[in-house]
Amino acid sequence: MGLFTKDIATLQDLYVHQLQDIYYAEQQITKALPKMIEKATDPQLKQGFETHLRETEGQIERLKRVFSLEGLEEKGVTCPAIDGIIKEANETAGDVADKAVLDAALTAAAQAVEHYEISRYGTLIAWAKQLGRSECAAILAETLAEEKATDEKLTQLAESRINASAELAEA
Ligand code: FE
Ligand code: FE
Ligand code: FE
Repeated sequence: MGLFTKDIATLQDLYVHQLQDIYYAEQQITKALPKMIEKATDPQLKQGFETHLRETEGQIERLKRVFSLEGLEEKGVTCPAIDGIIKEANETAGDVADKAVLDAALTAAAQAVEHYEISRYGTLIAWAKQLGRSECAAILAETLAEEKATDEKLTQLAESRINASAELAEA
């Protein structure tokens, strides 16, 4: 855009920008999850990450459908938030020695990712509805339900086992 104009003028522009942001974020998540699968020791945590990697690939396909329904090209814009969450996760994981404590760190990092996604999809759905895009809102709601279910599964795993195992680690 030119020197005297801004790229985001309308709610529609903001909605498109946010779609591009989450499209980029989901792609970064598909790159981060294989590393988390590798690092996780708890079999259910590992399995949970594997399941969510496949779901995330499906979520990218859903975003492609939304772009197509909107008549837009599939395009991502850098999401500094997801880059930061993933960077922080890698830094913390790199500092953890004990495998059980590492599982607790990986669970917490994954929940930070899910919470970011829940926030963004919640807003996208509200904007899609406001803009009269009910079909897009319904597609995005399928993804939001997966993100929420993943977050709940992670809470369940952490509270039923992972945190207790981590507590047993010796200094
Ligand atoms: Fe996702
Ligand atoms: Fe973002
Ligand atoms: Fe997710």
